[in-house]
Amino acid sequence: MKLLEDRIVKEGKVLSGNVLKVDGFLNHRLDIGLLDELGKELYRRFCKDGVNKILTVEASGIALASLCARYFQVPVLFAKKRKSANLGEDLYGADVASFTHGCVYRVVVEADFLSREDRVLLIDDFLADGNALRGLCEICRQAGAAVVGAGVAVEKGFQHGGDGLRASGLRVESLAIVDQMDPKTGIVFRSDL
Ligand code: 5GP
Repeated sequence: MKLLEDRIVKEGKVLSGNVLKVDGFLNHRLDIGLLDELGKELYRRFCKDGVNKILTVEASGIALASLCARYFQVPVLFAKKRKSANLGEDLYGADVASFTHGCVYRVVVEADFLSREDRVLLIDDFLADGNALRGLCEICRQAGAAVVGAGVAVEKGFQHGGDGLRASGLRVESLAIVDQMDPKTGIVFRSDL
């Protein structure tokens, strides 16, 4: 999606360790107008799939998921990153290796909020190795919910998490796919190749 690619080129910073920093519009300060356009585009791609719930992971996925949900008119459920005191006992959960923090954390949702009646669209800000989306798929599996696909703002294609998820049968729609990035030479999108 050119709008997103242009913004990444303008403001994104390539850090060492294959991290793309987009704190100016996606991960810290939020550009709601841009996120609304991304949400609208994800709606266009998945609007025929009977989505009745959006599932994401706290914290960075919540903003995009929320703007996307306004088009679908469905609730957003965000998996919480640890078992907090105000969560019930009946939980679905999965362990996720964090690309950016280099640790393993558990994500959980309350069983009451996800069921076999649900047709779920997974949303996240970034797709790198695919662990976060795999964790969300596992949570849906435990609930018996159907996963219609995953919508992602930025996929880092060179990390191949998206390839693995697609090979496993998940429909993954990424609005910008970065195939190469380097602090010196910059960013190459799949759409450029
Ligand atoms: P994965 O689980 O696919 O390896 O990584 C996806 C998660 O890690 C996303 O939820 C995102 O928060 C974070 N992440 C992975 N790579 C990047 C990156 O290059 N930049 C930012 N800002 N977040 C990333």
